[in-house]
Amino acid sequence: MKRAPLKNEFRWSVSRQACFDECQKKYWYTYYGSWDGWPVNAFDPNRKVDPLAALLYRLKQIQSLPLFIGSVVHETIEEALKKHHKQLPSAEVLRLDARKRFLKGIEESKEKKWLDHPKKFSNLFEWYYNTNLPTEEAIATYIERIEQMIASWRNSPAINQVIIDAKARWSGIEQNIEFLVDSVPVIVVIDFMLFWPNSEGDILIIFDWKTGGERKENIEQLYAYAMAAQIKLHQPIDKVVITPFYLAQGVTGYKKIGFKQTETLDLKIVEEVQNKIRKEGSKLLAIHKESSQDPLLFPYTENREKCLSCPFVEVCKKANYEPLTREELTSLILVNKETRKEKAESLL
Ligand code: SF4
Repeated sequence: MKRAPLKNEFRWSVSRQACFDECQKKYWYTYYGSWDGWPVNAFDPNRKVDPLAALLYRLKQIQSLPLFIGSVVHETIEEALKKHHKQLPSAEVLRLDARKRFLKGIEESKEKKWLDHPKKFSNLFEWYYNTNLPTEEAIATYIERIEQMIASWRNSPAINQVIIDAKARWSGIEQNIEFLVDSVPVIVVIDFMLFWPNSEGDILIIFDWKTGGERKENIEQLYAYAMAAQIKLHQPIDKVVITPFYLAQGVTGYKKIGFKQTETLDLKIVEEVQNKIRKEGSKLLAIHKESSQDPLLFPYTENREKCLSCPFVEVCKKANYEPLTREELTSLILVNKETRKEKAESLL
């Protein structure tokens, strides 16, 4: 059965805004240039994949090791919750699972399994660009960090006294919620949430697993979650508790902000986040409608430090950081492919 082509719909998110603020060229590659670059599948066997889109789609999936750690931890937790519900496996079992995922990702990158499917197999920055390759010792340290975070999560009071308690009514795991702020469509992805009974009405507790340090954007993101709950789940905002859990800080590394907590939800921050979405989101929405097809309108960042860890650096270097049209970028990719082919043939 043939499927109608997917439409590239605009949805504002904290990470989308952060990408635009970091580098507009990166933003174009991520949200527009790579669109439709995924491999042909059984639903659309006759679809032609544009070579530039295919390359950008592949590069978009690349993660550096520090980011990959976050993915491993999130995936391990997500799968444990989805598969085992309240009968969660022990910390030991989860630690082993996370370690296996991490090592599997490294193997897939080394073996370039992503050539078979860029999204199904890990592609790690260090191996793709053959740079800063970790020593055995560094890999052992990464594993130690992953296992510590997983153990902190599984052994924490938040899990054992709240999440797996009989009274908890689970409401979403890796849950997408879309809503509108004025005319700006917004999307949030909530790690986990549950309803907790209270004499004053059910309280919605929203959890966010954090594998990095505390940052201002984390709080903005959590307030966007609270807004999503208010708008889409009709949960009164004064009956919400947002809980960022900084897993590296140990079993009690979480904060509780909201209903009957020492730190209450600050309505001024809710308003600030709404205003930011109105202002910045409207700008990105207008770009989406009017000029998203033209890479010339998306400049390279002037802060070349950002390029050192950017997955798209291969393309920017080939383009010599010149403003190029989509056609020029495509021919550049094809020329490089041809040159590689000629070189290989001359070696035979
Ligand atoms: S390599 Fe640099 S200029 Fe190119 S997309 Fe990445 S951050 Fe932007």
